[in-house]
Amino acid sequence: MAKKQFKAESKRLLDLMINSIYTHKEIFLRELISNASDAIDKLAYLALTDDSVGLNRNDFAIHLAADKDARTLTVSDNGIGMSKEEMEENLGTIAHSGSLQFKTAMEKQEDIDIIGQFGVGFYSAFMVADKVTVASKKFGSDEAWKWESTGADGYTMTPCEKETAGTEIVLYLKPDGEEENYSDFLGEYRLRGLVKKYSDYIRYPVRMEVEERRPTEETKDDEEPKYETVREEQTLNSMIPLWQKNKKDVTQEEYLNFYRDKFFDYEEPVGTIHIAVEGAVTYKALLYIPAKAPYDFYTKDFKSGLQLYSSGVMIMDHCEELLPDHFRFVRGVVDTQDLSLNISREMLQHTRGLKAIASNLEKKIKAELLRLLEQDREKYEKFYASFGRQLKYGLVSDYGMHKEVLQDLILFHSDKEGKLVSLKEYTDAMPASQKHIYFATGNGAAQLAKLPQTTMLRERGFDVLLLTEQVDEFIPQTLNKYAEHEFRNILTDDLDLATDEEKKAAEEKAEAFKPCTDFIKETLGDKVDEVRVSNDLGTHAVTMVPEGGMSFEMEKYFKSMDPTNDMKAGRVLEVNPEHPALVSLKESMESDTEKAKKYVELLYCQGLLMANLPLEDVTAYTDLVCELMK
Ligand code: ADP
Repeated sequence: MAKKQFKAESKRLLDLMINSIYTHKEIFLRELISNASDAIDKLAYLALTDDSVGLNRNDFAIHLAADKDARTLTVSDNGIGMSKEEMEENLGTIAHSGSLQFKTAMEKQEDIDIIGQFGVGFYSAFMVADKVTVASKKFGSDEAWKWESTGADGYTMTPCEKETAGTEIVLYLKPDGEEENYSDFLGEYRLRGLVKKYSDYIRYPVRMEVEERRPTEETKDDEEPKYETVREEQTLNSMIPLWQKNKKDVTQEEYLNFYRDKFFDYEEPVGTIHIAVEGAVTYKALLYIPAKAPYDFYTKDFKSGLQLYSSGVMIMDHCEELLPDHFRFVRGVVDTQDLSLNISREMLQHTRGLKAIASNLEKKIKAELLRLLEQDREKYEKFYASFGRQLKYGLVSDYGMHKEVLQDLILFHSDKEGKLVSLKEYTDAMPASQKHIYFATGNGAAQLAKLPQTTMLRERGFDVLLLTEQVDEFIPQTLNKYAEHEFRNILTDDLDLATDEEKKAAEEKAEAFKPCTDFIKETLGDKVDEVRVSNDLGTHAVTMVPEGGMSFEMEKYFKSMDPTNDMKAGRVLEVNPEHPALVSLKESMESDTEKAKKYVELLYCQGLLMANLPLEDVTAYTDLVCELMK
């Protein structure tokens, strides 16, 4: 029998498949099952209007059969089948661009992990087989044909016997080698696993005859149980995915079990989102909001993204395009027929489809999180303890591009309430006389609550947000305003509290105290940028505040990132002229200049301590305190 030659393109692709070093060879089964399912779809559709098909919805099936002696794996279906011409056309050329993509990836030696995500088609059979036969009978035809090929050297076509319409593909597996144990693909366990992994939701049953050892029925009570081996056909796939069902037909328990099975998380998720969308893009999605971050969540190892299915076939395990980074903790699946299994000619459209789904999902996730925040606070705070930081990073990243989505989802510690509050809750509770949103940044809420500025604001009935995480610092900057209220850092910004008269009185007081502030500045020299009078210090004598845009927390942060970094925030020593310590200093300025200088040194150190800054010389400080106590 004369061999027919493959078209040039196909020949090269086949060569690549045959010599493939691709590690996910197992996907060949997904491809063959998916083709079989498509072929059944076509006949099932015909059966709706054509009685001569003679098959019901339940008669359709895909069969797997492994023969260990012959080293063959057979995949058969009772679908539409192929005529002789169709076989030559479909199996002799590269029919689709999925294969072309594969070929390009292989030739470029790219990281070909991505190829497993898309259809690579029938030729993938040659990754595991050195000979393939395809026997097929087209529905309505009375002849059947057999296509046979041992690879790139061509194929033969011969007439064959086949009773019913459909296709039977036999793979003659390659001999086992060091790299790959092809015999594996004959094992029931492996086949079962592959069907579960890639083809679980194919709409038709994937059936296989399996062997099972069972106790024989006639075992008497006092006897050792006898076993017999029975062979029976079993369906390997579950066929109907949960997300395809109607929401009202799914119980809470089913949602939970599915989550546990699929994502291996035994903690109950805080939220479940089940969506069915029809329109420009049609899709179904089932998403979960976990309660706790997996141990590797904040590392590079964490794989985010949703599982992407198309018509019951898993195309991609972690499709990152479907989730914005700030919601990368969400787990789930998306199923859409609008993307063909083969990343197709309409590559652009394909991407647009994904984008549309992604933006829709983002809205749904936000809505669910807001619902939890407002209606199920305990759950939300549990979630927030794990993922709040991710939301904050998301808010400040990309120059605040996502702030609209995220600003209502973040929480801060409230000085007044003694618990976490949202910005909305903060602004809703503001007294009419309060103009700005006040916040303080630092290491611990308890410490920030003790700041003189916090105390003073609290006394006025104003709440202060206590920002304790490093990323918090960047949030007021990014948001600038919330609900028309500006953010004011109580340590660095003008609190804007005084009336015009108060302001005038303050200026006069500062002027009167000027000889003293000048003396302090002169004594300290370059250690501080400015010394000034403050009326906000309450019972405290001094404090140190930053100047020039950078805060002390930022200074520490940059220093921790790079110890050689000498960027410093400007230092302003604020003094309380009414405080007995300052009164005492003023007196000594006239009577004992040397002593006054020591007082200044002491006040400077106290300013550093108040601002949680390190002392330059701890010994000198303690010596000084002891000396003055003499
Ligand atoms: P794709 O399925 O992506 O189009 P393949 O290389 O897998 O590409 O298959 C090429 C074509 O061969 C299919 O489009 C289909 O027309 C035909 N084909 C493959 N397998 C079968 C089958 N089991 N039954 C009927 N036709 C099939």
